[in-house]
Amino acid sequence: MIIAANWKMNPAPSAAASLFADYAAEDRITGATAQILCFVPSCYFSQARQTFDHTSVEWGAQSCHFETSGAFTGEISAEMISGSGGKWVLAGHAERRSLFAETDEIVAEKLVAALHAGHSVILCVGEMQAQRQNDEQNDYVAKQLKASLSAFCEESPDWQSDHLSKVVIAYEPVWAIGTGLVATTDQIEDMHNHIHSIMAELFSFPGTPAMPPVLYGGSVKQDNADAILSLPAVGGALIGGAPLSADSFAAIVSSADAVM
Ligand code: PEP
Repeated sequence: MIIAANWKMNPAPSAAASLFADYAAEDRITGATAQILCFVPSCYFSQARQTFDHTSVEWGAQSCHFETSGAFTGEISAEMISGSGGKWVLAGHAERRSLFAETDEIVAEKLVAALHAGHSVILCVGEMQAQRQNDEQNDYVAKQLKASLSAFCEESPDWQSDHLSKVVIAYEPVWAIGTGLVATTDQIEDMHNHIHSIMAELFSFPGTPAMPPVLYGGSVKQDNADAILSLPAVGGALIGGAPLSADSFAAIVSSADAVM
């Protein structure tokens, strides 16, 4: 079970030291059975390294560029993240797709660039409200997932087999991210099973390692974590709002530990 905190563009510099300290002091986080990940803004990489590197918490970046270096003002490469001590990268978060015009093709390149740099990657997919209302979510997510994995699928079968264990999928319905709306357990279970079957279809070559876990993301909080994390098709959660309080995040981590 993976429980991942996405801090987004938070906290303010004046609050960063205390949030890191709160995480470090929280035994439910540092002593968790679940694998705990924290995606921090790049300005806090050195604090993440100092805080987490002597704990079991792994940390990473919320995005990366797909090139290794060059004239890409404002961007950071996957190598810069690993050089700073980060082990994980988020690819294709809905906010990157909608606010920064990241296409499936860009996400696909980022995923592969991050894997080449030695990272593990959470690849995010999810439908918008309109597709859910029209009952088109399964087709939409299938298309988005396959397109976001297109560069991965162009690598050699051996490379794919070696790197599949470093890929995690997060299903995050866009209408549930930061809105307080939560997909129902039936919706989550259906979509996670759908994603699992697409992955099995895409990576059916012999000797394939275990298929990637599928995390749920979208307004996960202490009061809904038990119901979501106990679903058999759910491999954990990617969470944006609750982790800005170590106590709220730790409560969700405890729910994960309880169902493991
Ligand atoms: C997210 O940032 O990926 C997310 C799911 O946010 P929230 O938990 O606030 O919905």
